Amino acid sequence: MVPRTGGLDRAASNGSLVSEREVTGGLKAYHWKHRYAIAPYLVAIAVTNYVAFNHDVHLSDGTIMPMVNYVFPENLQEAMTGTAQNVRVLEFFDSLFVDYPFKKEKYGHAQFGWGGGMEHQTMSFVINYGWGLLAHELAHQWFGDMVTCGAWEDIWLNEGFATYLEGLSRERYPQSPGDWYNWKLNRVNSITSSPGGSVKVDDPTNIGRIFNGRLSYSKGSYLLHMLRWKLGEEHFFGGIRSYLNDMGYKFARTSDLRQHLENTSGQSLSGYFADWYEGQGYPTYNVRWDQEENRLLVRLDQAQSHPSVSFFEMPVPLRLKGEGKVLDVRLENISQGQMFQLLPDFKVEEVVFDPELWLLAKSNVTKEDLVSSVYDGSSEDFTVFPNPVSDYLTVHLAAAKTLDYHISDATGRKLVAGRSPSALSFTIDIRSLSDGVYILSLAGNKQLTTRRFVVSK
Ligand SMILES: [Zn+2]
Repeated sequence: MVPRTGGLDRAASNGSLVSEREVTGGLKAYHWKHRYAIAPYLVAIAVTNYVAFNHDVHLSDGTIMPMVNYVFPENLQEAMTGTAQNVRVLEFFDSLFVDYPFKKEKYGHAQFGWGGGMEHQTMSFVINYGWGLLAHELAHQWFGDMVTCGAWEDIWLNEGFATYLEGLSRERYPQSPGDWYNWKLNRVNSITSSPGGSVKVDDPTNIGRIFNGRLSYSKGSYLLHMLRWKLGEEHFFGGIRSYLNDMGYKFARTSDLRQHLENTSGQSLSGYFADWYEGQGYPTYNVRWDQEENRLLVRLDQAQSHPSVSFFEMPVPLRLKGEGKVLDVRLENISQGQMFQLLPDFKVEEVVFDPELWLLAKSNVTKEDLVSSVYDGSSEDFTVFPNPVSDYLTVHLAAAKTLDYHISDATGRKLVAGRSPSALSFTIDIRSLSDGVYILSLAGNKQLTTRRFVVSK
């Protein structure tokens, strides 16, 4: 029961409004009823001189459900515009994973004076009617409310998803030219503004760490975006659909999400979650390439911003451009200094690293200098000569040591292997090799390093 002020006060809450009636003493009683499982922190009541209005929402199963809005009278116009746009987002989210989880009742907004918003079940509280805020709180109805994180270290299951779904609403309905790209760019710039930090909350006693925007929100959202790239649309959306179906109206841990994605995709994600959930930081890529006739050789190196991850195993997207043509390729990058051979049917003039921002990476470099480049010292440094070579290849090391080496052709087939003496230089007999392009790999106590050479007789 609430005191009335001039007959205007209204009470907003979870579920459906069952009755609204006068009681004794000039008071009015509002009876709201909610029939779904609800976490205690999502129960809420708000009372003031609200103006109330509804929109119809057309859900994918044919249900027509109300969106109920309780707004400050002075903000009525912007509230009507903003909430009408959020009807489209609700209909989109309803078609994306599983049905809106509280469709027998409603979705709604109640305005409040605090900063930001709060995803109270079926009735989000919001300070304004901006697209991003409304989409974020709406997304929580699935991620946070229907499935609630089971521990503070898993808060990204609420906030990373809500952040990502806001991004998806911009992919579906751009609010300006380049909206979706800019949304991703802003996330990447925020996350990489510092070299460390994990999605997993490493200090669950620290509220600031739990609700860290850079990590629990932005990096959590990019953890999902990269999974979508790694697994593909069908397995990513299908895995999350099965996670929601099984974990709905319960508490979930990160391992629950991982297992559902693994079951749907058939891929182990233990390494991925070790790097991107528990591990800290991000990679910087160094892409070098060289083309002879049609054969394009590409070498990928990466540096990690934080020592907790030794290597980020990721599919790397490259866009090849030349002669007015464009070819997008995906390289499964599993090791340092990995070489790839590609066969584009045009002369490549430019190689663009990750043009659509699928990866969380920073300061990446792409150069056409595969042969002449000097590596940065994190691998064995060496030179080979002569190049081209006809009979004996000389290898010169930066320091005398014993190393295993092998020579493979451009398809990766190993043709010659051996062990070097402990010396600054040694020679390899390559008289058995026919004309062509080959790769010499050296493995010492550092990473495998490769050099390309040409046999010409
Ligand atoms: Zn949130």
